Amino acid sequence: MKSIIPDYLDEALAQVASDASGHLADYIPELAAANPERLAAVFATTDGRLYGAGDVDTAFTIQSISKPFAYAMALDDAGFDAVLAKVGVEPSGEAFNEISLERDTGRPRNPMINAGAITVHALVGSPQLTPAERVARVVDGLSAFAGRRLEVDEATCVSEMQNAHRNLAIAHMLRSHGILTEDPTVVVDGYIRQCSVQVTARDLAMMAATLANGGVNPLTGDQVVGARVVRQVLSVMATCGMYDTAGDWATQVGIPAKSGVAGGLIGALPGQVGIATFSPRLDPHGNSVRGISLFERFSSDMGMHVMEVPATTRTVIRSNRASGSGPDATRVFELQGGIRFAGAERIVREVVDTAPTEPRLAFDLAMVSSIDDVARRMLREVVYRLRSEGHHVEIADPESVMGDRVRA
Ligand code: GLN
Repeated sequence: MKSIIPDYLDEALAQVASDASGHLADYIPELAAANPERLAAVFATTDGRLYGAGDVDTAFTIQSISKPFAYAMALDDAGFDAVLAKVGVEPSGEAFNEISLERDTGRPRNPMINAGAITVHALVGSPQLTPAERVARVVDGLSAFAGRRLEVDEATCVSEMQNAHRNLAIAHMLRSHGILTEDPTVVVDGYIRQCSVQVTARDLAMMAATLANGGVNPLTGDQVVGARVVRQVLSVMATCGMYDTAGDWATQVGIPAKSGVAGGLIGALPGQVGIATFSPRLDPHGNSVRGISLFERFSSDMGMHVMEVPATTRTVIRSNRASGSGPDATRVFELQGGIRFAGAERIVREVVDTAPTEPRLAFDLAMVSSIDDVARRMLREVVYRLRSEGHHVEIADPESVMGDRVRA
């Protein structure tokens, strides 16, 4: 059988193909020369499977889609405190290139607007790095997210640098507030190199899948950044990734996302899939017009809104039954699926409500696919309490989802 997903993607592209609204970014001359008809969509699963349709191998510059990844690198390299001291996490409700900083602290409001991203660029790597070494660290990091070697597109880089008046103005303002401590021109040069890294829709989908996969690149298996960093990055993408349309996006699409002025758009659906689209014509906010349509479609067709999560808790108890008699009488709780706080609460409640009288109790975890820290602690406590009440408790845990301590 042929997979149904590429057909779905073909169909989705066909539905948006005729929309010629929007304009190419023209403040970077090289981008104004792009072919506006290019159109692609790619899904990358968290186990590394790619599904694509359209111009999936066309190269374009990453632009602002580099921002969440550089933010991840800065958090990893410099630590949360150092980064948060210089760049906030509040949606600005302003355009990506707005010349504005927080009134009292002089901090850029978030790392997704240019002011924040220019500051973040300077925080990547150790403070001792030369500007060229910092750019190399950024390109290496972006490559690790993509799972292949990426390069800077010199033509776009030069073209943007020659017209970087606005970003230079922002950087000078950051320097005057002491947020930047280096030469503003040098930092903007590095930031523009970061924005000029060449990618394809395939690369972007894999980069997004790495975020969706807790920071582990699904292709290479490398832990590119830690899970705590990923949580921070996805949160900021969800609230600030689409600039002054972040609220519309959060309600309509509900996938942490980031756009770039070359026409790329990524979405990372935690635990499920990385998505990328490419279509160069932009709306007045600088977001890809057909990219947005595609994401709206994906979200509603496939139930991808992060706030729309099925209740898995009802099914965590597969069965609750008594077996044997006399001193061998056993109460068996058979658990299943993924267990988090709400699932663990259902289990605690089931045990309490059952008030087992059997001398032996057994928890069968053979069908449990995952259990998080909180749920694990709650189950351990249940076992501890049952044992202190005099029950003999056994745990069948063939996949070791509980860790070893509880079995003793
Ligand atoms: N390099 C571009 C800039 O700084 C990136 C903007 C974007 O993609 N939104 O203006």
